[in-house]
Amino acid sequence: MKTVRTRIAPSPTGENLHIGNAYTALINFVFAKKNNGQFIIRIEDTDRSRLVKGSEERILSSLKWLGLTYDEGPDIGGPYSPYRQSERLSLYKNYAQNLVEKGNAYYCFCTPQRLTKMREKQIAQGLPPMYDGTCKRVKSEEVRAKIKNEKYVIRLNVPEEGITEFTDVLRGKISFENKLIDDQVLIKSDGFPTYHLGVVVDDHLMKITHVIRGEEWISSTPKHILLYQAFGWDLPVFAHLPLLRNPDKSKLSKRKNPVWVSWYKEQGILPEALINYLSLMGWSDPNERDKFSLSEMVKHFKLEDIKTTAPIFDREKLKWLNKKYIQDLATLDPKRFTTLLRTMSSYGTTPEFDEKVRKVIPLVSPRISTLKEYDAISSFFHARPQKYEVDLESYQDVISKSADILENIQIAQWKSDRIGEELQKVAKATGLTNSEYFMILRVTITGKKVSPPLNESMEILGKNETIARLQTISA
Ligand code: GLU
Repeated sequence: MKTVRTRIAPSPTGENLHIGNAYTALINFVFAKKNNGQFIIRIEDTDRSRLVKGSEERILSSLKWLGLTYDEGPDIGGPYSPYRQSERLSLYKNYAQNLVEKGNAYYCFCTPQRLTKMREKQIAQGLPPMYDGTCKRVKSEEVRAKIKNEKYVIRLNVPEEGITEFTDVLRGKISFENKLIDDQVLIKSDGFPTYHLGVVVDDHLMKITHVIRGEEWISSTPKHILLYQAFGWDLPVFAHLPLLRNPDKSKLSKRKNPVWVSWYKEQGILPEALINYLSLMGWSDPNERDKFSLSEMVKHFKLEDIKTTAPIFDREKLKWLNKKYIQDLATLDPKRFTTLLRTMSSYGTTPEFDEKVRKVIPLVSPRISTLKEYDAISSFFHARPQKYEVDLESYQDVISKSADILENIQIAQWKSDRIGEELQKVAKATGLTNSEYFMILRVTITGKKVSPPLNESMEILGKNETIARLQTISA
């Protein structure tokens, strides 16, 4: 039995790791771990015009943040180094030339102008635009002369007849008529390989046993299979995962959706919540649980159980799951919760931050769905309100009475129940309804009409601070 080896092969052409690629990475990771295999990262950076500076580093750091640790990759190396295609260039050309010698590929000297005209003509005739094979028929002496002074590409010589088919683990048999497969460029005129040549050569050399990738690559697979056959190499197993969709079934697109993993991190989504949510895309836990860890997924995972009907990536459901993770983290690991919050909160650098968070955790954690929501609900614990949602001027008297009555509580008795009892007395005497009175008090202390429970909040703020806030208004 061969060791299972899976990979993702991201192109560093985007700002960060795409959420769809994170999903593909998750499935590759889980499948490899389930089978005691290895999960590899290879960077496909041969499309030089689309490279984005820093993209590779950010992709790798997002994978690490998600906990999808890899066994081999561009930054950690491995037995099949290098793991960056731009560092493997000489290799691809040799393989392409080898195909030319065997007649499975050929040099093409057609100019871009000729190709454009050819395509326009085909489209006008209602034909699918594809290379017409002109250079396939050029005699070898002529080719030898031309490669010295003309620009050329190397193309795959696709058989004109027959079919190419494969069995996808998730979709069954998929067939393509060879006459509809383009004579794909393998080596571009700049000497770089195209994706198709690079992916096949590297998956073979890196001993990848299972190619698990998004369904947008299905139409490329017959080209890859023809290449494997031309080289005389064993085929890997193919599985094409469904694409994630919006709740309205449209495709996730970077113009309409936040698609970068870094965005979710910045919102204060926990990595384990995002992984858990992604694992529910097309797959479900046999015990029908919504919340489970990555290692539990590994335990129960079967690749063939993934459903290919468009899974819905709903940010509201992700937030709902994240809320559960936040609550658990706050109670089970308050230290990590505080550390994470410290990096998200604008009060994170204040010296008393950790101590404050420790006190407010029980009040705040059930009320937030993301770490980023912490400041909106808790800023009043860290700083006095800068503005008030209600004009408090006409309530000065009531607020002043409240301050006086709270003054009577000894510091040692400064507890939410006792605070509540005293304030009830004022409430009765003011002539305001109970809800109006406590709303006014809430706004005085927190600046807002909606906040965590008021008496408990005052207890945490302490007697001096609470009275000082009341006096700011009543003075
Ligand atoms: N470089 C391709 C990408 O950007 C890899 C596709 C594949 O997995 O074969 O996703």
